[in-house]
Amino acid sequence: MCGIFGYVGRRVDAGSLAIDGLKSLEYRGYDSWGVACKTGNTLTIQKETGKISAVDPADFGTACSIAIGHTRWATHGGVTKENAHPHLNETSTIAVVHNGIVENYEELKEDLKRKGHTFRSDTDSEILPHLIEEELKTRDANTEKSESVSGDFTAAVRRACLRLSGRYAFLALHTESQTLVAAREGSPLIIGVDTDGYFIASDIPAFLAHTRTVQYLDDGEMIATDGKTILFLDIRTGHEVRKREIEISWSVKQTQKGEYRHFMLKEIMDQKDSIARAINQDEEEIRTIAQAIKHAQGTFLVGCGTAGKACVAAEYFFSVLAGHHVNYAPASEFKLFHHFLKPESLLIVVTQSGETADVLEAMKIAKAKGSKVLSIVNVQGSTVARESDYTLLINAGPERAVASTKALTGQMAVLLLIAYALADKLQEGKLLLLETSEMINDMLNPRYVEHLEALADTIKRHENLYIIGKSWNYPMALESAIKIQEVSYIHAEGFAGGELKHGPIALIEKGTPCIVLTGKDEVTADILSNARELSARGAFIIGVSPERKEVFDEWIKVPDAGAAQAIVNIIPIQILAYFLAVKRGKDPDMPRNLAKSVTVK
Ligand code: GLU
Repeated sequence: MCGIFGYVGRRVDAGSLAIDGLKSLEYRGYDSWGVACKTGNTLTIQKETGKISAVDPADFGTACSIAIGHTRWATHGGVTKENAHPHLNETSTIAVVHNGIVENYEELKEDLKRKGHTFRSDTDSEILPHLIEEELKTRDANTEKSESVSGDFTAAVRRACLRLSGRYAFLALHTESQTLVAAREGSPLIIGVDTDGYFIASDIPAFLAHTRTVQYLDDGEMIATDGKTILFLDIRTGHEVRKREIEISWSVKQTQKGEYRHFMLKEIMDQKDSIARAINQDEEEIRTIAQAIKHAQGTFLVGCGTAGKACVAAEYFFSVLAGHHVNYAPASEFKLFHHFLKPESLLIVVTQSGETADVLEAMKIAKAKGSKVLSIVNVQGSTVARESDYTLLINAGPERAVASTKALTGQMAVLLLIAYALADKLQEGKLLLLETSEMINDMLNPRYVEHLEALADTIKRHENLYIIGKSWNYPMALESAIKIQEVSYIHAEGFAGGELKHGPIALIEKGTPCIVLTGKDEVTADILSNARELSARGAFIIGVSPERKEVFDEWIKVPDAGAAQAIVNIIPIQILAYFLAVKRGKDPDMPRNLAKSVTVK
């Protein structure tokens, strides 16, 4: 979580660049922010609690060509100005912004205190500048030949890294050096290469307005740059590492809200064509992957949150369409199933960002067993995408709202396509998904959106809401609950319709809104019976269905999409969740306590 940004180069507006860059990283954390600018040998620090969106970049007019910044998602220490980054060392000559957790910070802090360091915050991060300061005092004559302060600074940062445990990415500045140093172990850092200098950020949108040429820092690597050249080093050995430059296909327009009030609505509407983009895959590759699944001794699926629900949907796709068994576990639970992994097993990981800590951990476990990894991921060049044996990009374009929408339907579309390929019916699957994409395009018209807005008005004061589904609509009931919870803070829960009578039905009172997700298939009669059971107990039934049924008090019409029904059905719920948030006065793009791209465990 958290967004970090750095710039060093010929431009003299590094402070404003940092503010602008951080604004586009705000989805990663937004409880406080801070920037350090270096002018001459002076560091100017500005930090505040609250969101950076309201800050005017023009207020950072002081000419400076090197700056670092941070938007925080607190893990250690409350949301206060003192705990906001950047953090400084004892003599305020070193500034650091940090993403992640220094797991051994208590032990390091005690050691530093014994050496006379005093601390101003409750964060784990603050030990970093102090540790670098200590390391600067000791030159390692064997490994570093550098005479200059900048060389010493880089070497000191490297030695400090060797003492850290945990997952981190951080940027460091020193008053005496023109070098910006960054290191990574577990949390993302990407370099933007511009003719005038170098950008370093947690994610590409932070510098996309300036350059599309990027270099990726891998785990265990660090960089040192003065804006003219950049040096990549292996943290452990101190040896130089060669890096490729990669051109990114995203455009700035894709990362902006455009005519929409919120990213969430923009991204929901983008589903008019993002599904078609997702299935635009190399057919040979899909067939190869289907064969790999067919012959694997155990195929496991992992994901977190919404991506995890795409995995549960895939269990149904693979079973119903191809008669093939796969096993899903939330990525954070996967390590308990490692006994079943063999070199012949396959792990399918589903992630929007490709940086989710729990997913990376699951991949590590699978790789240790020699199993192959297929990733279904949105962000090109992300750690997951780079470290998988097979990677399928869903091409949803940047997803900025914390609540995932278009990434989910893209993931499901790709998984459905693979299920069809597994059944030797790839063309049939492709056709179905193309037709579904067109039907979604028709469905997402202004009248449709207005209908859902009006429905949100009707139910916005309820504090409990339940959603039921069966077959692949069951994971969509779970996903509907997540979507409604995370942006509107209404207590929402999803169930398999048949489970109602085993407990949840006790929660139903007169007027409780209950959403029933259905298609036109062999389970429709069952789910409608469940809807009647709810209705008999006074529930207000909202049916999401291709057909109107007498049990529905309110009908949300969706096209009949056959095996792609789950993809279609979730879209009106995304819109409903969006309007529930807005009408309850919440910001759907930045829900409380959450952040996108969960890079901590
Ligand atoms: N652990 C650090 C803190 O709580 C960094 C959190 C983050 O990644 O934003 O300040």
